[in-house]
Amino acid sequence: KGEVDDCSCTVDSVDSFNNLKIYPRLQSLLDKDYFKFFKVNLNKGCPFWGDDSGCVLKDCHVSECREDQLPDGIKKADSFHKYARESQKTSNCDDNKGSLGKLDHTISTENKEAFESWQKHDEAQDNFCELDDDNSDSCQYVNLLLNPERYTGYGGFSAHRVWSSVYEENCFKTEAADYTSFIQKKNIGANLSDKRSDMCLEKRVFYRMISGLHTSINTHLTAMWQFKDHFANTITWGPNLAEFKRRFNPETTNGEGPQRLKNLYFTYLVELRALAKAAPYLKKELYYTGNDKEDKEVRQAISDFLDIVNSFEDHFDETKLFKGDSRKAAKLKDEFKLHFRNISKIMDCVGCDKCRLWGKLQVQGMGTALKILFSGDDPGPNSTLDASKKNRFQMRRTEIVSLLNAFGRLSKSIHEINNFRKLLDQ
Ligand code: FAD
Repeated sequence: KGEVDDCSCTVDSVDSFNNLKIYPRLQSLLDKDYFKFFKVNLNKGCPFWGDDSGCVLKDCHVSECREDQLPDGIKKADSFHKYARESQKTSNCDDNKGSLGKLDHTISTENKEAFESWQKHDEAQDNFCELDDDNSDSCQYVNLLLNPERYTGYGGFSAHRVWSSVYEENCFKTEAADYTSFIQKKNIGANLSDKRSDMCLEKRVFYRMISGLHTSINTHLTAMWQFKDHFANTITWGPNLAEFKRRFNPETTNGEGPQRLKNLYFTYLVELRALAKAAPYLKKELYYTGNDKEDKEVRQAISDFLDIVNSFEDHFDETKLFKGDSRKAAKLKDEFKLHFRNISKIMDCVGCDKCRLWGKLQVQGMGTALKILFSGDDPGPNSTLDASKKNRFQMRRTEIVSLLNAFGRLSKSIHEINNFRKLLDQ
């Protein structure tokens, strides 16, 4: 209850906006082919410590999508990207000119020259997140609807090490020593309120976004908990109210639980604002899968959805961040970016395939939101940067898919919290 803090709106207003207007529309959008196929590399390996996964838990398994299960348009776009990059490596051949059809509007309407500059831009783009290399043979398509985020049994040392490392990235230099010794006490989130109130806005935003993501993941696993009936030998999935209370009650969390829930609302508001800002760009995307009827429906549904996003009155104000002395602000932004990139790398250390899949997707979606808010340019037609100095703001399909799905996760979490509230009332 109460204010979300660092934003000018209340938990109640977000609840009613999300549960009535956003959640139902977004979930039906995410069922569409364009959004349900996500390309990801789950085999990169952890760059920070040895593999401790083993991933023997049955519920951690991710079922891959075979090529013949993919929509034609997505397959073609993929082979175009591969072809364009490979032909660029070997020759200056221009064979692909004019043969792109309706692949992806960021490249389809342009020629090879535009593709090259787009690619350079992509590489030079100061992303907040490490994107997987689409061309790697280790990348696979996953149908997200067939691999729902839910309880998997992952936890213990491996999960705690990941969360500790993620929070460690939150401390920009000066707080590092304090924070590390704090984490060593294996009490990651507690007693941090005092420290956080001293933090500057940017660092607080960073912390709250990570904590909000953590809340969201833990809400999903408690809302889709696995109940085993050993006598009947059956498994059912549903909300586990006792587990939800254990994770968020003030008594069991050193008073931190309610603030952790608020951090979810905060993260939701940041990503909501990113969607509003990117709306002109997202409205121009073709969402091409090769199924004309569905693609048209998706374009219409996206447009309607973004109008609703824009109708929210109390958007998060990103212009308050990275202000003041321009050199200091730029340095802080670079640090922010670096730390966030590290978090995206840490996701390769998650020792459960299913959790890694959703962790990577949600961090990439969050990174895309940060890029929209803080790259210093307006997306799409409103791009103000001179193309000769720097290419215009663009997003790859993987960024759009992760942005919408990541926001979909936050939206569903808020919806689930509402269900838990009803269960508590009962
Ligand atoms: P954890 O959630 O592991 O938290 C560790 C400590 O962090 C807590 O003791 C507390 O001090 C602090 N903390 C907890 N929540 C917050 C918060 N919101 N903000 C700040 N500090 C906090 N499990 C599944 O079953 N399904 C999944 O899909 C899944 N996905 C995961 C994805 C990632 C990226 C990671 C790292 C883990 C995932 N897990 C998943 C595991 C899950 O998040 C928990 O780690 C696990 O359930 C064990 O919970 P825990 O009670 O030990 O506390």
